[in-house]
Amino acid sequence: MFSKILIANRGEIAVRIIKTCRRLGVKTVVVYSEADADSLAVEMADEVVLIGPAPANQSYLVADKIIDACKQTGAEAIHPGFGFLSEKAEFAQRCADEGIVFIGPNPGAIQAMGDKIESKKFAAKAGVSCVPGHIGEIDDTAHAVRISEEIGYPVMIKASAGGGGKGIRVAWNRKDVEEGFPAVRAEAKGAFGDDRIFIEKFIESPRHIEIQVLGDKHGHVVHLFERECSIQRRNQKVIEEAPSPLLDEETRAAMGAQAVALAQAVNYDSAGTVEFVAGQDKSFYFLEMNTRLQVEHPVTELITGLDLVEQMMRVAAGEPLAFGQGELKINGWAVESRIYAEDPYRKFLPSIGRLVRYDPPAEGAHSAYTVRNDAGVREGDEISMFYDPMISKLCTWAPTRAGAIAGMGRALEDFHIQGLGHNVAFLAAVMDQERFQSGQLATSYIADEFPEGFAGTEPTAFQADAMTAAAVFMHRKQAARARKVGNGLAGPLTRTEWVVAVGKAKRQVTVAEADGALEIALAEEARSLRLTDVEWVPGRGPFKGVLGGEPFTVEVAPAGEGFVIRHRAAKERVLVLTPLSAELHDRLPEKQKADTSKLVISPMPGLVVSMDVAVGQTVREGEIVCVIEAMKMQNIIRAEREGVVKTVGPKAGDSVAADEVLVEFA
Ligand code: ADP
Ligand code: ADP
Ligand code: MG
Repeated sequence: MFSKILIANRGEIAVRIIKTCRRLGVKTVVVYSEADADSLAVEMADEVVLIGPAPANQSYLVADKIIDACKQTGAEAIHPGFGFLSEKAEFAQRCADEGIVFIGPNPGAIQAMGDKIESKKFAAKAGVSCVPGHIGEIDDTAHAVRISEEIGYPVMIKASAGGGGKGIRVAWNRKDVEEGFPAVRAEAKGAFGDDRIFIEKFIESPRHIEIQVLGDKHGHVVHLFERECSIQRRNQKVIEEAPSPLLDEETRAAMGAQAVALAQAVNYDSAGTVEFVAGQDKSFYFLEMNTRLQVEHPVTELITGLDLVEQMMRVAAGEPLAFGQGELKINGWAVESRIYAEDPYRKFLPSIGRLVRYDPPAEGAHSAYTVRNDAGVREGDEISMFYDPMISKLCTWAPTRAGAIAGMGRALEDFHIQGLGHNVAFLAAVMDQERFQSGQLATSYIADEFPEGFAGTEPTAFQADAMTAAAVFMHRKQAARARKVGNGLAGPLTRTEWVVAVGKAKRQVTVAEADGALEIALAEEARSLRLTDVEWVPGRGPFKGVLGGEPFTVEVAPAGEGFVIRHRAAKERVLVLTPLSAELHDRLPEKQKADTSKLVISPMPGLVVSMDVAVGQTVREGEIVCVIEAMKMQNIIRAEREGVVKTVGPKAGDSVAADEVLVEFA
């Protein structure tokens, strides 16, 4: 085994690799860009080397700088993680030439599999079932139309060098091909510097199922079963699991055998993944092979008990695999949710910024499930625009699929993030869907289930109960506090009859305290809620409790009146009212939504560089109102309509929060 390795990556995967190295007693060197100087990976590494400015093409992608760092620190091997240099055959070759071990497959295997056209040729030769199509380059639009009509619509136009969901377009007819072919070609040229395109049949509503393979330098290859990654948005994975609910033993063995055959055909000697699309009838077709560690590798680790980073290091060091196919088996079920800095309520727009609060669920064994959270961030860190907007990868494991999903729902409740938009509520919504629970997956799942985008869910009966109980509890605590400091009435503490409004629904309740529990009798429903084991610090986000034996966590934000409470994907305003004020509330005209048309609002947290308007000034549409610096970028904020400035909020030098009012028009 090596004594010191260099990690040519950043973020969660760098941290992930360090953890294995520490366990194996291997020293680590982490290279970092200026943007990552204060990162967790840099803090955890034994040695660090600064390799340049934030943009990856000036730091993480510069082979010379990585090789220099290796020589300077005496690292014997390089783990490339994923992305960046991980699938660059020239880089793997360069390492070999410099006498440094590349912890990944041999350059020939990367070369052969790195290109979708070439890899399909290999696959066809190795007896792997491929998507029907044209395994070869397309010359021009006329050729593209001819091939598409031979294959039969719909077809998929793909960049041979594509990756990360880029350079892919579906065409349903001739017009789509005529438009799509030049578009994909231009995108491929721009993104990959390679404009070779091919066309294959588009399998409608398929599932994405991939096989993890592992080979050594002695000709052994095994597979570590499958992962299903059908929950995707724009061809990018969001939720993954292992094993797949679709496969039976026979299909699993057939896919595994094909994946191993393909790996053997290219002398594969590391961890890699063979991706397939599968029909609901369990037919399956080869898509591509990823010659690196995969983002979603933790779910495989959770069901096999293997550490894939350790295995990659061992085989790179020349050790033979310590087990054969027959010794591997699937234990239980694992699910992974990718926690992204993106706002599901705003069409999943990236939402970079500072993690004002970052409080993940505790890792390790919980009552019925186990949590693993792979992250490269800490509270206070920034998610920058320079790299992947992933905050962490949350995994749960349980003996059964239902258990792992239930565990994920609970783990997502216990994940608290503030300061930027994130997709936790969206992921929870998927976990709570019957279709997801029943395993009826397809790559079109998100488009099918959220055709209008995501707007949260209506509270279920349990959620309305949890919100009611939490609100009553917090209302009483606030009253007790107010009385202590001398400005409150005893009313809220002695009164027992209340009306709780959860969104538009009102329920009459009778509240009583009894041996450490809050009893809330629901008048109309002739049943009562029993709240125990509350953990809540006023002012901080989450509220934990147990309702009728069922543990839950809700997130609470103060609202002008009452609270805004979120449980998973359901978010409601909750008010605790006296019967009289509830009646008055009914008679009040419904409050108008705040009129923001006269406001200019900061779209992000940042620093005001200049305030370019003054009170009384007439501003025309499109004119600059102010400049805000965020993520080392200057953002020009312009007026969306004409108006006369009535008030100006911050001045140059002030910092502003997201949604803070910058300027108000008369
Ligand atoms: P995977 O194919 O491993 O599931 P994805 O398809 O979600 O990964 O990721 C898209 C691509 O983005 C991957 O091929 C990977 O190369 C790249 N990528 C993902 N995360 C990072 C990262 N933190 N840094 C650099 N590149 C990344
Ligand atoms: P990338 O290199 O970007 O990961 P892939 O070829 O793996 O590209 O395709 C990404 C995703 O696009 C797949 O996971 C699948 O959802 C979808 N896809 C790719 N090819 C097809 C196809 N022929 N039919 C249907 N869906 C496909
Ligand atoms: Mg892929």
